[in-house]
Amino acid sequence: ATPTSIMAGSGRAAEFGILFKGGEHLETTHHIDTVIVDKTGTVTNGKPVLTDVIVSQEGNAEEFLSLIGAAEKQSEHPLAEAIVQGIQDRGISLRDVQQFEAIPGYGVKTIVDHKEILVGTRKLMYQHNIDISPILSVMEGLEANGKTAMLASIDGEYAGLIAVADTVKETSKKAIKRLKEMNIDVIMMTGDNERTAKAIGKEVGIDHVISEVLPEGKAAEVKKLQDSGKKVAMVGDGINDAPALAVADIGMAIGTGTDVAMEAADITLIRGDLNSIADAIIMSHKTMRNIK
Ligand code: ADP
Ligand code: MG
Repeated sequence: ATPTSIMAGSGRAAEFGILFKGGEHLETTHHIDTVIVDKTGTVTNGKPVLTDVIVSQEGNAEEFLSLIGAAEKQSEHPLAEAIVQGIQDRGISLRDVQQFEAIPGYGVKTIVDHKEILVGTRKLMYQHNIDISPILSVMEGLEANGKTAMLASIDGEYAGLIAVADTVKETSKKAIKRLKEMNIDVIMMTGDNERTAKAIGKEVGIDHVISEVLPEGKAAEVKKLQDSGKKVAMVGDGINDAPALAVADIGMAIGTGTDVAMEAADITLIRGDLNSIADAIIMSHKTMRNIK
């Protein structure tokens, strides 16, 4: 590859909002045969909105939300932000928090108003021996609609469910279709549960979904594919995605995402539009053709 063609290629890519960190990535990107996309903030807009609140004790919704909101106020997770916003929008004030612990991939464990409050996944509830059987079918229904449902307990008893909905980016479906037409395998990877992940995957035409991946597990999934001979591009926006972005043959960070993701990646997609993935691969092909 001549420095001139690399420079020209990088400049042209930059005009399309595709920033290659080094010339070598413009040379290697065309080898990619597998693209893994993160769900939240990558395939979706990453701006979840609180949609459902179901409390176990009728008439107790306000009390429930004032405790849950306080617990989530301490969390930096995008889901927590959506929950707190939704609760404040309903005009409910939050209680005092005495203790807070984030459990990555599971939820939060807190003491609010001197009560132990857990909010998070089924697994979090099972780990604390909380009986959630009465709500499971309702939860599954919400998830089948692509919503992320979270369970809450107060002092060891199931207390309610909250669900948030995130919308897919308008451009995601077409972007996935383009990659498939280029004979590239597309996989969606998320910490979210299987039902929600499959529903979102279906909306955008991805049937290969890896769900319920713990934050530290994303890089391991990339390595597994590489060990089977795949050339893998990872596309993500979150702090959780950074190790996977670094391990992948090509890491692509969404420009609207976290700085940590952009630092770990080889390419930044300024537009946040997944069409930039196919564009980057095509530009790499073109650059290599000009060289030969
Ligand atoms: P993602 O890859 O979708 O960002 P995470 O690994 O961060 O997923 O979280 C996985 C799951 O853990 C979430 O879908 C949610 O059910 C639960 N969870 C994580 N953080 C919180 C929180 N602050 N409050 C409630 N649930 C949470
Ligand atoms: Mg994300």
